[in-house]
Amino acid sequence: MLIPVKVEKALNAHLGLEMAAIYHYLSVASWCETKGFEGSAAFFYKQSAEEQLHFMKFFNYINQVGGHAHVPELKKPQTSFKTILETCQKSLEAEHKVTVSIYKLVELARAEKDHATEAFLKFFVDEQLEEEMQFNRLIDRIHLIGGGPQSMYYIDKELEKLGGTTAEATE
Ligand code: MG
Repeated sequence: MLIPVKVEKALNAHLGLEMAAIYHYLSVASWCETKGFEGSAAFFYKQSAEEQLHFMKFFNYINQVGGHAHVPELKKPQTSFKTILETCQKSLEAEHKVTVSIYKLVELARAEKDHATEAFLKFFVDEQLEEEMQFNRLIDRIHLIGGGPQSMYYIDKELEKLGGTTAEATE
């Protein structure tokens, strides 16, 4: 065992949050697609695919360092939303939970003198900052564009710029 048992347990617990993020974004993407927000759907499908990579990085790491990665149990995510603004607010909340969990993992790794895990987590500290900044910017922009059905078109275009086309994202 290369990692302390406490760290292995905490990493396994964190897998649940990364898996929940895959589900959250997939559920949001599906809602966007059914409402005709193609740009937003593409953006959220891409987010979900990115979360799959995050999940696998944690999963593989646990086994590589002598632990045993467990597939987490999952709750069904929220399936319907009122507006794209709500999907972004819920995404920011979800990302913030992940950030808090990663910061706790860093503190634990440090306390256990597990420098390898602390180094491994650096990528995620940076990634979380980017994710939270992205949703903060999007929420600010949506507030600038304003509410109403016509503004949804422009909001969808904003997300399209970040996500590419639906076809590319789902290939
Ligand atoms: Mg993630």
